[in-house]
Amino acid sequence: MRCFNLCLPFDAGDLAIVTGKYYFLLQSHTVERKPELLEALSNASVPGLDVDVIKFRLQVRSVIHLDESPDDTADFLLALHYGIICGYDASDFCRISAILRLATKYSEHWLRDHVIAGLSHTWPATLAQWDERERRVNPTNPGVVPFNLPHPIQVAKLAREVDVPRLLLSALYDLSRNTPSRIASGMQSNLDPSVHHTLSQEDLFRTLRGREIASRFLSTFIVKELEGRRPSHACTRPQNCRMAFECVMFDLLRDVNGLLCNRNSDVLFAIAECAGMLATEGTRADGRFLVCCWCHAELCDVVQRARAEVWASLPTWFNVEVDEWGTI
Ligand SMILES: [Zn+2]
Repeated sequence: MRCFNLCLPFDAGDLAIVTGKYYFLLQSHTVERKPELLEALSNASVPGLDVDVIKFRLQVRSVIHLDESPDDTADFLLALHYGIICGYDASDFCRISAILRLATKYSEHWLRDHVIAGLSHTWPATLAQWDERERRVNPTNPGVVPFNLPHPIQVAKLAREVDVPRLLLSALYDLSRNTPSRIASGMQSNLDPSVHHTLSQEDLFRTLRGREIASRFLSTFIVKELEGRRPSHACTRPQNCRMAFECVMFDLLRDVNGLLCNRNSDVLFAIAECAGMLATEGTRADGRFLVCCWCHAELCDVVQRARAEVWASLPTWFNVEVDEWGTI
């Protein structure tokens, strides 16, 4: 069990919050201003003190018993007093979760909003922010979630618990990029390897359904926009451009079948790759297919519209109602 040794003297607080075997001392005037809970922490638990001494000191104070774990309470009180001092990566996810749960439970709206904004940096509600996240979290292999991020199952379960549908939807889409077996089997707990985190049956079904619809959208996109695609009316080299479109289509089909880079279920990535595989100048040596600028511009426009449609459709595909999806 952790203890916190803050700088204020032990006797500074005249109010004790007791959780489990620990207690936290605060100044009551901070509580009077925010009776629904405690705005600031002025002193912390002091382990190792003689039990009688602790009892004596508590006797001269008002005592509030909270049915929370000491660790969660400590993180929450510290966040109230100092702001968020832990990160949003996998190693700090338990702490961030505790702060968000307790901020929700005790109606500390500013703190709740602050934590949600921090999580939304990685699980956003707009396509532009999603693309930015993909560039940021793994620029060399976009779409592959690095190990230092919390698992999307953890985020989805937390979002359910504190009722943040947009965070839930973003996490479910993130999760849907895995294989069905990995989605269903869940994840091993970082804290206890014997514990497996899994989605509820309802959210598992939502994820698999959304994944399937996204996969169908991609197949339709390939048939509609790439198969037999005609060069632009202004095309300067139609033979080359037609061949380039065919090559892009075959590469995408190989990816759909899981042969290229196992990104077959990331529809946003796959569609963006259509444009990413084309270039208007350079050589074939860089792995891209050369097309004229007119054909390139037309396909980029198609790609942009298709990706926007995907993002706008996610609430329907995953059956999650979200206010202001795509506009926050
Ligand atoms: Zn062309």
